[in-house]
Amino acid sequence: MRDASVVIVGASTAGAAAAYTLRAVGHEGPITLVGAEDTAPYERPPLSKTVLTAAEEPEAVWLLPTDTYASRDITLRLGAPVTSVELASGGFSLTIEDREQIAADVVVLATGGRARRPAGLPEDPRIHVLRTWADARALRAHMRTAHRALVLGSGLIGAECAASASAQGLDVEVLEMQTTPFPSIASRAVRTTLLRTFAEHGVRFRTGVTVNNCTPTDDGLVVQLSDGTVLEVDLLVVGIGIEPATELAERAGAATERGVLVDESMRTSVPGLYAAGDVASRRLGGRLIRHEHFASAQAQGEAAARAIAGLEPVPLPTPWAWSDQFSHRLEVPGEPDAADYTRLRQPGDGQIVEFSIADSRLVGLTALDQPRVVREARRLIGGRLRGSANDLERTDVPLKQLVDAP
Ligand SMILES: Cc1cc2nc3c(=O)[nH]c(=O)nc-3n(C[C@H](O)[C@H](O)[C@H](O)COP(=O)(O)OP(=O)(O)OC[C@H]3O[C@@H](n4cnc5c(N)ncnc54)[C@H](O)[C@@H]3O)c2cc1C
Repeated sequence: MRDASVVIVGASTAGAAAAYTLRAVGHEGPITLVGAEDTAPYERPPLSKTVLTAAEEPEAVWLLPTDTYASRDITLRLGAPVTSVELASGGFSLTIEDREQIAADVVVLATGGRARRPAGLPEDPRIHVLRTWADARALRAHMRTAHRALVLGSGLIGAECAASASAQGLDVEVLEMQTTPFPSIASRAVRTTLLRTFAEHGVRFRTGVTVNNCTPTDDGLVVQLSDGTVLEVDLLVVGIGIEPATELAERAGAATERGVLVDESMRTSVPGLYAAGDVASRRLGGRLIRHEHFASAQAQGEAAARAIAGLEPVPLPTPWAWSDQFSHRLEVPGEPDAADYTRLRQPGDGQIVEFSIADSRLVGLTALDQPRVVREARRLIGGRLRGSANDLERTDVPLKQLVDAP
């Protein structure tokens, strides 16, 4: 299938990686990368960090130099939402904006996800979500005139937005529906340290509450919480996760389960239809996993390309998420949620590594400000412990002497 026509829907991390890798492995057929946004594929991680905090508005960080598409004969169609993907005589027919049809032998769905919004929130420019470059520019501009910010959700994006708003001098309060702040972080020690840092910067948390009602007024937003509290703020950032954009896959007849179900080569249940990145979910050892991390999206785009080119699959790399909050770098390689038990290493000065162990193997870790240990550990995840798990708490022994390479 070196000459198959391939259309990739979604011009972001997974889609750009799929297009680039296809050419890199010698695919000769036409490749079209179609994206709903007007912007060439860019990195999203800076959107909640430097794009909000830099003194001058930074340029987008392009995933690939923008001349790469033309030089590799990849057709880039921007501002072109695909409205349907249908099976058609041995291939697919895609509709762009309900008016233009394009044909493809193979389709990759790299449609990512949409930021969730609680039902009932009014449409108001002072209520923000953060998923796209346009969202980040709007939030950045608003942060420069606002004084009081309310952040809904203390997942990674909510926490980063709260830290960035605080760094801009805003008075920041964070609402968390769960009973503990940062509920997606497996390590209690890390959560505690982060909470202390946020408190030192004056960021307040309310847990076990959510927004019941939000009324825009001339002066701001009047937000009524589920515990009856009423807050008046200038801006509200909603950071409560994403909804994977599975609708095209569903209409094409592909199996979905909290994402588009794929195998290790990113094949969906429909022959010739692949999915990669935040939209793709996989069954692995009885667990359903769907990553929402940059490195996974990139690796999955590459894996889809290799499969289309007929190459043997290479194992997907260990998942690895990172997040910057104030001066902290949080890193989460592997699958800490799969742990039977954990061991904590605290070298001091707020630095933490919590090792997650299942079946005498290192399955993941949650680390704060420990880049060197993370670098070493990423190669060892899946490896068997050599001795007692308690040895992981020692800082005087290199990790590779404690864990066998997988
Ligand atoms: C603010 C922010 C900060 C982040 N920070 C980090 C971080 O620090 N570390 C980390 O590991 N990860 C981070 N991430 C997550 C990471 O950016 C994502 O995992 C990654 O972007 C997923 O890539 P993707 O290509 O699968 O999907 P997306 O990036 O969501 O891209 C999907 C693209 O598909 C397009 N699309 C959807 N439907 C259609 C359609 N029907 N037709 C055409 N186009 C369509 C969308 O417009 C979008 O451009 C962050 C994400 C955000 C939003």
